[in-house]
Order: sequence, then C-alpha cells, then structure tokens
Amino acid sequence: MPTLKSINDLNRHTQPIQTALSAAIERVLHSGWFVLGPEVKAFEEEFANYCGVAHCVSLANGTDALELALRALDIGHGKTVLTVANAGMYGTVAILATGAVPVYADILPGTLLMDVADLRHILDRQKIDAVIVTHLYGMLADITEIVRLAHARNIPVIEDCAQAHGAMLHGQKAGSFGDIGCFSFYPTKNLGALGDGGAIVTGRADLAEKVRQLRQYGWSGKYHADMAGGCNSRLDEIQAAVLRVMLPLLDQWNERRREIAARYTERITHPAVIAPAIHEEEYVAHLYVIRTAKRDSLKRHLAEAGIPSDIHYPVPDYAQTSCRHLFEGIDRPVTSLACAEVLTLPCFPEMLDSETDLVIDRINSW
Ligand SMILES: *Cc1c(COP(=O)(O)O)cnc(C)c1O
Repeated sequence: MPTLKSINDLNRHTQPIQTALSAAIERVLHSGWFVLGPEVKAFEEEFANYCGVAHCVSLANGTDALELALRALDIGHGKTVLTVANAGMYGTVAILATGAVPVYADILPGTLLMDVADLRHILDRQKIDAVIVTHLYGMLADITEIVRLAHARNIPVIEDCAQAHGAMLHGQKAGSFGDIGCFSFYPTKNLGALGDGGAIVTGRADLAEKVRQLRQYGWSGKYHADMAGGCNSRLDEIQAAVLRVMLPLLDQWNERRREIAARYTERITHPAVIAPAIHEEEYVAHLYVIRTAKRDSLKRHLAEAGIPSDIHYPVPDYAQTSCRHLFEGIDRPVTSLACAEVLTLPCFPEMLDSETDLVIDRINSW
C-alpha cells in the first residue's frame, strides 16, 4: 500500500490524467501563444458556465482575485471590510493591500464559518463597505442570509471560494450568490493547476470589465492605463489548458472527497475528538478538519504512526506578527479557540479506504 506522504498526494492526483495533461501542454507549446490567448478565453467560458454565472475573469492567483474584487468594488483607503480571522490571512492580506481596514466577525463553534448574528451586530453598529465571506474547508457559510443582510444595507459581498469549487446550495454553486466569487487554482485546491492560478466570477458585467482592466495594468486598451490600481495578474495559457482537462473531473473528485469525509465522520469515535459539522450537499471536503483540546498530543500520536496532519490555521489574522499592531485589544473568542484546536486529516480524491481506516484506527486508539 502506498504510504501517505502528506495530507494530499498530487502525484496520485495527476498521474491518471498525465497523457491528457501532456497533450494540453503540448498544444499550447505548439501554438506559440502563452498569455491571454484561446485557452484562457475557453477556460473562462467553461468555468463561468460551471459556476452558473455570466462572467469569469482568470487571474494569476486567488489572493489577487480577492484584491482585484475589492478594487473593482472601489474599496481602498478609508474603507472598511468585514471578514473572519480564521481563514489563513488571504482576505486580510488583500484588504490591507488596497489600503482598507479589516473588521472581524467571530465564527460559529460548530462549522467554524462566519457567525451571522455577529455579522448583523457589527453591521448595525459601524460603517462597513464590503463583506468577504470565506467558504472554509469546502463548506458554504450561511451565504443566503449574509447576502440578504448585506444587500439590505447596500453592502457588496465577495465570496472567497478558494476551498469550495463546486460546493452547492439548492443546486446553486459557490461564487454565484454574492457580487463576486473569488477562486484559487493553487495545486492543492479541489480544482488545482500545475502552478499558480486564480479567477473571479460574477454576474455583473461592470465588475467583470473592471477586473479585466485591473489584471492588465489598468489598461482600457493597449498602453492606455485609464484605471488606477492596476497590476499584472494573468493566468498562463498552459495553466488554462491544464484546468480545462481537470474541470470536467471536478464533480467526481468532489464526490470521492465527500465519501472519505463521511467515512471519517462515521468511524471516528474517540470521545475527545469533535468531527466537523457538515451539511452534506454543500460540502466539497477540501479539508477534513477535526477539533480537540489536546491537539499537539493527537498530532504527535498520528506522526508516530507515520500519519501526516496539518493545521488550518494556527494563528488568527488579528494575532499575526505582520499586522497585530493594527488590532490591539481585539479578540474573537471562538476564532482564537478554534485556531488552538483544529487539526486537518489527510483527504484527497485518490486516498484509499484502507488508508482512511488506518487514520481512523490510529485516532480511536489515542
Ligand atoms: C488558497 C486560498 C486563497 C489564496 O489563493 P492563492 O492562489 O494561494 O493566492 C484564498 N483564500 C482561501 C480560503 C484559500 O484557501
């Protein structure tokens, strides 16, 4: 049996489609067109279609997607963006890059997703100019209610879908609920390229057009930089071609991830381990994250049996060394506790049931 080298195994993921990937890469090589060409155009159409939205603009990575989404919504100096602090700093980095200030809602202790009551409380008390909702670990936040609350106050909503490609609520896909959905195609994501990649999706033509200009120096046309805040953030043709091979496989990959997660939830019986609160149809099992008050001990117990695990994420954004001076005195108690207790178990589509059972047995014997 292959051993688990990491919480996911990209060799096992790409190996079965190597022939198709090589053909896609070679097609680009022979075309002589490497940036913003036909593969990017086709992928953008295919991904917009998959998400059930009118527009997709591909970008260099998911963090740029968040930043350009904010800029397209005119977020910058003097603006305030509400988000959560347990989602790996990506939203915070993007907000700070625009010159705006992050404000943090706490999370729910069960799902570790944005606490809507806290969101409402903050919206009622202070001026908020945009909301970034993270669909963490592949689970949808209470997106319908969040969009309703925000839009009632004319506040735009950005969905961070970097862990939620294909997650659905009543048949509607992540990224299609708010004003803009942001995706990363980093290799370990549910839909991951062979390098960096990202995109925004939106139903609003005006926002798509703004992001399209921002990703290329703020150009309205060649060498005419009409829009401020532009940068260089483009998806390569090779990565677009690779993603076009993978997109048709995403749903079956997600289905297999869900099976592994369900097996964990059903069979992990250790009383000190809390399974994630999952709404089945909305969950694409990007990460299977348990909680325990004695995380270090469990992590060690797993490592001693050669079982890898990881922590997503160990430090709340407001406590990070790079920016904690901006958030003195701020604590979100559920967020802080979650960061101290979460532990991510191996979960990827090619993981064998026998490997999942090894992890389960090891946890139950802790
Ligand atoms: C990975 C990730 C991002 C950032 O994507 P990059 O492509 O690495 O910049 C943003 N948000 C979340 C929730 C992520 O998991």
